[in-house]
Amino acid sequence: MEIINKLAATGKIHSVVFDFDGTLSLIRKGWQEIMTPYFAEVLSGAPGGGSYQSEFECAREFIDLLTGKQTIYQCIKLNEEVTARGGESIDPIKYKNEYHRRLLEKIDYRRKGLADGGIKPVEYLVPGSVEIVEMLSGRGVEIYLASGTDEMYVLQEAALLGLDKYFKGRIYGARDDYRLFSKAMVIRRILDDNDLHGSMLAGFGDGYVEIENIKEAGGTAIGVATDEEKMEGIDEWKRIRLIKAGADAIIPDFKQLFEIEKYLFGG
Ligand SMILES: [Mg+2]
Repeated sequence: MEIINKLAATGKIHSVVFDFDGTLSLIRKGWQEIMTPYFAEVLSGAPGGGSYQSEFECAREFIDLLTGKQTIYQCIKLNEEVTARGGESIDPIKYKNEYHRRLLEKIDYRRKGLADGGIKPVEYLVPGSVEIVEMLSGRGVEIYLASGTDEMYVLQEAALLGLDKYFKGRIYGARDDYRLFSKAMVIRRILDDNDLHGSMLAGFGDGYVEIENIKEAGGTAIGVATDEEKMEGIDEWKRIRLIKAGADAIIPDFKQLFEIEKYLFGG
C-alpha cells in the first residue's frame, strides 16, 4: 500500500463506496480494447476525421477522462467529436448499444461460465475482494456499490461473483435516464441519509470520477491500480492517473487487508 496522504483517514469511517468494474469485478476487463477501436473507427469514418491511429489516441484520451461515469457520457462525447468533424449527430444511445453489443460478445463466455460453475468467481475478482467486504461488514461499516455500468448488469454480475449478499439493497448503477444517477448523487445520499460528515466516508475505485467525487465530498479515496492481466502488482499507468485524480492511497488489490484496515480505522 502506497500512502500519499497520511492525514486522510480519520478512524471514524461509517460508510464505504466501491466502484465495481476494475475495482472489485474483472468480468468486463478489456472493455477499453472494445470501446477505443470502435470509437476510432467511427471518428476516422467522419467526413473530417483523421487517421485511425490519431483518432485512436484522441478516443483513448477522452474515454479515460470519463471512466467511472456512465458509459453514455463517453458516447455523448463521441457524438460531439463526430459532429466537430462534420459528421451527422445521432442519438448517443446508438453508440452505446453498439459498443455494448461488441463488449457482451467478448465477455459472454465469462458470464456464462460463472453462471454454470465452469468458471470460479475468484478468476474474475480483484484479489482480496471478498475479504475486504467481509472485514468492513464485520466492523459494521455500511458498504455501497456505485457503478457507471447499467444497473441491471451490475446486479447480475455482483451476484455471479457472490458479492451481492454483502451489498444488499445498496447497489447502484446507470439508469436509462442518465440524469437519475451519478456517483456524486449516491455519495450525497449516503451522507444525507446517515447524517454523516464527509470524513466518515471512504471509497475505493480505479477511475478518475469516483476518486474525485469522494475527495469533493471530503472523504478518503483509495485508488485500486490492479494489473488486470497479471492479477498481481501495480499497473503503473493506472497508479499515475489515480494519484492525479487525488487518491489518498494506492493499492494493487485488497490482499494487504491488515494495512488497509489500519489506514482506515487506525490502531
Ligand atoms: Mg472502474
